[in-house]
Amino acid sequence: MSTAILSGKPLAGLIHREVQEQARSLELDGVRPVVAVVMATADESTRWYVRSIERAAERAGVGCRIIDLGHDATETELAGVLRDVSAEPSAHGIILQTPLPAGVRTDNLVGLIAPEKDIDGANPLSLGRLAVGQPAFAPATARSVVDILDHYQIPVAGKAVVVVGRSAVVGKPLSLLLLARDATVTVCHSRSGPLERHTKDADVVVVAAGRAGLLTGSQVSSRTVVVDVGTNVLSDGSLVGDVDQASVTGTAAGLTPVPGGVGSVTTALLLLHTVEAARRQFPSLPLAAGTAGAQVLEAAG
Ligand code: NAP
Repeated sequence: MSTAILSGKPLAGLIHREVQEQARSLELDGVRPVVAVVMATADESTRWYVRSIERAAERAGVGCRIIDLGHDATETELAGVLRDVSAEPSAHGIILQTPLPAGVRTDNLVGLIAPEKDIDGANPLSLGRLAVGQPAFAPATARSVVDILDHYQIPVAGKAVVVVGRSAVVGKPLSLLLLARDATVTVCHSRSGPLERHTKDADVVVVAAGRAGLLTGSQVSSRTVVVDVGTNVLSDGSLVGDVDQASVTGTAAGLTPVPGGVGSVTTALLLLHTVEAARRQFPSLPLAAGTAGAQVLEAAG
């Protein structure tokens, strides 16, 4: 069985080009799109990730303002910054980067992100809007799974799709996006029992559990397309997904790699959402065709 490797890089490249074009067109209209990243951690891999957003933004002509409050920031300080940036006209998109310092409740903060700037779908209002088919930004990771499937023309309508993981940032919004695309969605979690009971007959399996090697080749069939959302740093510093790539390669019909799969598309989509948010915050400017907002509307409708 030859397994198609579904790299995220070609799609990420296309999205980056679209962001560049939209950023240039916004600049002509006198608006420089800006994403603000609010962070408070010393975690090196997170800092590396934020720098990668900054570099990608720079290449695309999107401003990136990193507001780093340090690893001992309090919830009150973070709340104040989120309120300020939400009200600040020159910031069009906001990312609240996790992890946050011990004792800080993310739940108490995400609702402070202005919904029109909530480019990573963190505010519960965004999730609620997705659930009822109203316009909202989906979390970029969830959307990137759907966009990768679209890019490789893998149909989900009428198909059995299993999502492993039910977090508010990946599993739940992804299941809503897939449901809106007429997939028959099963959501698995830590109490679901043996995964193969659900995954063996699935057309598509998306794994977002944060457990290296969770899904193996014996748990899928030759018609299954596997999307690996997981990112796990091993003790030797290497990055692996949630899928045992060695055993799934050769068994499944398709597989996204880690790195170079979902993650590369996610960063590109954060920037796409930023330019779209910038355009929507200036109602006098025409909306660009085929933008993120249009896609989300379609996906959630
Ligand atoms: P999370 O909040 O920890 O949620 C993990 C989910 O997986 C939970 O619903 C949990 O079930 C479920 N789970 C854990 N062990 C399981 C098992 N043995 N069998 C079945 N389900 C299991 O994690 P997250 O924030 O959603 O992230 C998930 C993964 O995606 C992580 O590796 C993260 O690093 C990665 N991620 C990648 C990107 C990207 O752009 N590539 C972005 C975001 C996250 P319970 O609810 O029952 O606990």
